[in-house]
Amino acid sequence: MSGHFLEINGLTAYYGDFQALFGIDMYLDAGETVAMIGANGAGKSTLMRALTGIVKIGSGNMTLEGERIDHLDAPDILLKGIATVPEGRRLFPSLTVEENLLIGAHARKGEGPWNLKSLYELFPILAERRRSPGTALSGGQQQMVAIGRALMSNPRVLLCDEISLGLAPVVIKDIYAAVPRIKAVGTSIVVVEQDIGQALKVADRVYCMAEGRITLEGRPDELSRDAIHDAYFGVH
Ligand code: ATP
Repeated sequence: MSGHFLEINGLTAYYGDFQALFGIDMYLDAGETVAMIGANGAGKSTLMRALTGIVKIGSGNMTLEGERIDHLDAPDILLKGIATVPEGRRLFPSLTVEENLLIGAHARKGEGPWNLKSLYELFPILAERRRSPGTALSGGQQQMVAIGRALMSNPRVLLCDEISLGLAPVVIKDIYAAVPRIKAVGTSIVVVEQDIGQALKVADRVYCMAEGRITLEGRPDELSRDAIHDAYFGVH
């Protein structure tokens, strides 16, 4: 059995007859931040959906602390402590900021540092807007709520799917400033990103995906720009 906190071996996934993932091997150590980069359609979101039990896997396996989790459905994976910030944020638009955050705490009452108070310290603007409906928020504020909602379950692993998508650079900087603070409490993090620069800044290790396969893996300081470019565009 593996020694890694979270491990994926030989994973495949399909949408009907269409194969989206081909033999994915990856791992995440406890407390580590890993970035998953790749162009549109590379399979990053599918991999995240497989990890959260939304997409059923074809073959291969996923383990958390050596225990198989690939047969579990989404609510049980969350109960194991793997929480997602989904692409597109998916807030409940008619609920307030605070109500959206509390939904995260209902989904899993995990022990840990995150509660309304600590989240409002992490994102002070959310405290000011706590009674505003989701629809009244800017894109960046919505993203903070989506991250906060996932953190309210006090996850052991936080999966962030394209949290910078469609946001202005200054807002992206604010949101990414939270990552080291989340890491500091021991949470393992996967950030899925099309923005390579952003990914390299926060990650301990980077995976690149193209056409449903992992095409590169390494620490940011050991990967050349050329190697990343080739892996990103699927040059074999
Ligand atoms: P993006 O940045 O656009 O989210 P991605 O790297 O996350 O890209 P995926 O969304 O995982 O890529 O898509 C991988 C492949 O699976 C693509 O070819 C996509 O068209 C296909 N795909 C994704 N979702 C579905 C679905 N629900 N049904 C059928 N095919 C899908």
